[in-house]
Amino acid sequence: MSPRSPRENPQETISAATSGDDIAPPPNTRRSFLQRGSAGIAAALAAGSAGNVWATGAPGADTNQVRLPLIQDPDTEQKEQTPDANLPPDDRVGYAVVGLGRLSLNQILPALSHCKYSRPAALVSGDRAKALKVARQYGIADTDVLDYQRFERLADNPRIQVVYIVLPNGMHKEYTLRAAKIGKHVLCEKPMATSVADCQAMIDACRRAGRKLMIAYRSQYEPMDRMIAKMVRENKLGPLREFVAGNSQNVGDPTQWRLNKALAGGGALPDIGLYCLNAARFLSGEEPLDVIASVHKPDGDPRFVEVEESVQFILRFPSGLTATCMSSYASHESRFFRLQGSQGWVEMDPAFGYNGLRMRHGMLVDGKSATTELQIDPQDQFAREIDHMSVCVKNDITPHTPGEEGLQDQRIMEAIYESARTGRVVKIARLAASTRGPDPHEETF
Ligand code: NAD
Repeated sequence: MSPRSPRENPQETISAATSGDDIAPPPNTRRSFLQRGSAGIAAALAAGSAGNVWATGAPGADTNQVRLPLIQDPDTEQKEQTPDANLPPDDRVGYAVVGLGRLSLNQILPALSHCKYSRPAALVSGDRAKALKVARQYGIADTDVLDYQRFERLADNPRIQVVYIVLPNGMHKEYTLRAAKIGKHVLCEKPMATSVADCQAMIDACRRAGRKLMIAYRSQYEPMDRMIAKMVRENKLGPLREFVAGNSQNVGDPTQWRLNKALAGGGALPDIGLYCLNAARFLSGEEPLDVIASVHKPDGDPRFVEVEESVQFILRFPSGLTATCMSSYASHESRFFRLQGSQGWVEMDPAFGYNGLRMRHGMLVDGKSATTELQIDPQDQFAREIDHMSVCVKNDITPHTPGEEGLQDQRIMEAIYESARTGRVVKIARLAASTRGPDPHEETF
């Protein structure tokens, strides 16, 4: 092991026991002292050991035992990664990616290739030529490329531990049940499924099989979102009052599965409105009591024959917080939220995206309203999310966003549709406990 620097050991002090003899300090102590640099020395001297400070090599130094005060400055230097920060490839959790569409090709496979604990191990696709090409890019053996009919052959390879389902929403249940049956853990894209009954069946199947089920709520693994949730837990915003959020985009191709009720479960709400809903719950740490909503399905637009174009809903929470959310498939791309408390607010704009996220914080400073922008080194949300699943598999812990988290969102989405249909406020059943597992262990990311 390399020697520890003083800052790595905050308890370290510099001392020299003397009895009046002119003895030299122990060599490592001398080195430590010099490593602190002149600023550290000045700080130590100024910090009040006056008349009792011994400085290396200083003629006439006090020879009593001395203890320099600890250097308290936070360490902002970039740390070198420890050599064991990443698992060797053979020890990583192997993932079978099911469905090779946009999300798998553009985000998930690239993220898997720079995870710390996870690796791509198999592909399941209806297009073998495409899948073989992709497999070669990621070092996956041809024998680990399967089609949907031969999905169960994943059981033959024990190095595939997790099945990552990246299919249209209406297929999530079938592939979760099939994965659980062959003894694989499941990471399933959002929305979890297209009905409460299907979500429950997925939870039950994984529980019966003793396998883990995690829903890929990537924003819950994104550092800015996590910072905001922590600020709320630490009451930095005061009591929460309002949450306002929007997630909209234009959808073009009228033939795509996202506009098909059976495959998508709904329109803008389950696909992108879900981000607003889940953020309201995750960031506040509260569960809504009821909801009032409206949906819009324009006549004559071939895109919105089966599913809604847009949705607006207001959730009420036990503390008095309200969440006003909107989502549209026919608006220019716009993704944002603002969470207001009595003593401050935080907003992200853009929010919910894969990158380019920005966060601002409003607060009182010396009685004046002040605003600051916080920037955090961008990180791959998908890699963090996938590695969290791997940590859960390796250490046998419940994922932070388990099936119950997806089930609760599905319950609320069904209440939103019911409210829009009836024009009434719809109550949401109280939960006995939070749907979330322990917070991800930040230090493992
Ligand atoms: P996509 O249309 O690009 O890909 C879907 C894949 O499923 C394709 O490879 C397609 O061939 C395959 N497929 C198999 N059977 C199909 C069928 N009957 N009909 C249509 N396609 C079929 O979709 P996508 O954008 O990759 O989305 C996949 C899933 O990922 C969805 O559940 C979606 O909600 C989710 N998603 C999540 C995020 C996120 O940020 N977490 C982002 C985008 C999509």
